[in-house]
Amino acid sequence: MDNLTFDRQHIWHPYTSATHPLPCYEVKKAEGVTITLADGRDVIDGMASWWAAIHGYNHPDLNHAAKTQLDAFSHVMFGGFTHAPAVNLCKQLLAMAPQGMNRVFLADSGSVSVEVAMKMAVQYWACQGNTQKTRFIAPRNGYHGDTFAAMSVCDPVNGMHSLFQTALSQQIFAPAPQTRFDQTWNEDDIATMTELVEAHHHEVAAIILEPVVQGAGGMRIYHPEYVRRCRQLCDEYNILLICDEIATGFGRTGKLFACDHAQISPDILCVGKALTGGYMTLAATLCTEDVALGVCQGEPGVFMHGPTYMGNPLACAVASASLRIIETGAWQTQVSNIEMQLKDELIKCQSLSSVADVRVLGAIGVVECKHPVNVAALQKQFVDMGVWIRPFGKLVYIMPPYVIKPEQLTQITDAIYTVLK
Ligand SMILES: *Cc1c(COP(=O)(O)O)cnc(C)c1O
Repeated sequence: MDNLTFDRQHIWHPYTSATHPLPCYEVKKAEGVTITLADGRDVIDGMASWWAAIHGYNHPDLNHAAKTQLDAFSHVMFGGFTHAPAVNLCKQLLAMAPQGMNRVFLADSGSVSVEVAMKMAVQYWACQGNTQKTRFIAPRNGYHGDTFAAMSVCDPVNGMHSLFQTALSQQIFAPAPQTRFDQTWNEDDIATMTELVEAHHHEVAAIILEPVVQGAGGMRIYHPEYVRRCRQLCDEYNILLICDEIATGFGRTGKLFACDHAQISPDILCVGKALTGGYMTLAATLCTEDVALGVCQGEPGVFMHGPTYMGNPLACAVASASLRIIETGAWQTQVSNIEMQLKDELIKCQSLSSVADVRVLGAIGVVECKHPVNVAALQKQFVDMGVWIRPFGKLVYIMPPYVIKPEQLTQITDAIYTVLK
């Protein structure tokens, strides 16, 4: 039985039917921004493997870090042990994170880092004798992962809350921010959030949001003032602010962190995806000293979380090498060049009758169609044109590796225009 047939019959894929799966393409190798399929065709990567592979595939520095660590040791338990890969990585993370972040919890995936953030927030208040503050406020259209607590703060419609109704904690949802990134800020945009905070602050542990760019919940790019105002509300009403930068972290939006657009710091920050440059799964939950002290005061005096593969040395070593590339600052020019080119080249999609909106921020380009697209059909056309783009719903969007060359990016934007036409 060939690989694709076995795959079709036995292996789940993300958000895919087991009985009627979407077609799949087998990959043989990947190098730079080129993914080579088993049938020999090359596709230029527009997705960075879902925000992750920012430096491109098969990167010599990341390979070297993985191989060196592999020859030393791949994993040891983090209970009672520590190691240079974890220490180096956390030093780098704290040095680049928004001001005030002082403690790092290493988690296995983005969703787990969100679970950890939410547990921290609840435990923070409980350990100070406030057991009422257990709920969360989240803007609609958010996405925070697929585990249960994370799912409870995802958009209730996109996140299919109706399916899991009784299994999910009931959270409080504010309208999604409407003012676009480059529009004049509209005060009305924060009105309902303000009312919800005033009405519910006694039972709310934290506001959780994706600053400036809402990813999988709709690829929406909104005004940084919304984030700044949420920060103020949290300060005023004794609520923690959790910023989920799993998609936006490490330069993707044109700033190192999307929080930087709003010039604020959260109390708790989640990072993941690009952390290892797309090599393996690793995420982190960072918090302030105040949060850490709050969580660990009184009983039980410890933070109640500890995954088996916590601080995996292989993943930490690769992440550390990925952050060393970020530290060179080359991403700034790369991302701003991608932004300029996307604004230049994607804008012509706006004139197509099938297109509702085009938006760009940093190395993110989004074409929103008027109707949901046929993913399998579009994907096939894209592959036939030599590019890798995975649409979902009404959205054809790209977030290429930062190292993509202008002519490669043009091939991607041309393909989007041609296919939507
Ligand atoms: C992808 C994503 C997550 C979940 O991360 P996983 O590693 O897929 O569990 C959470 N929040 C945001 C904003 C994301 O983009």
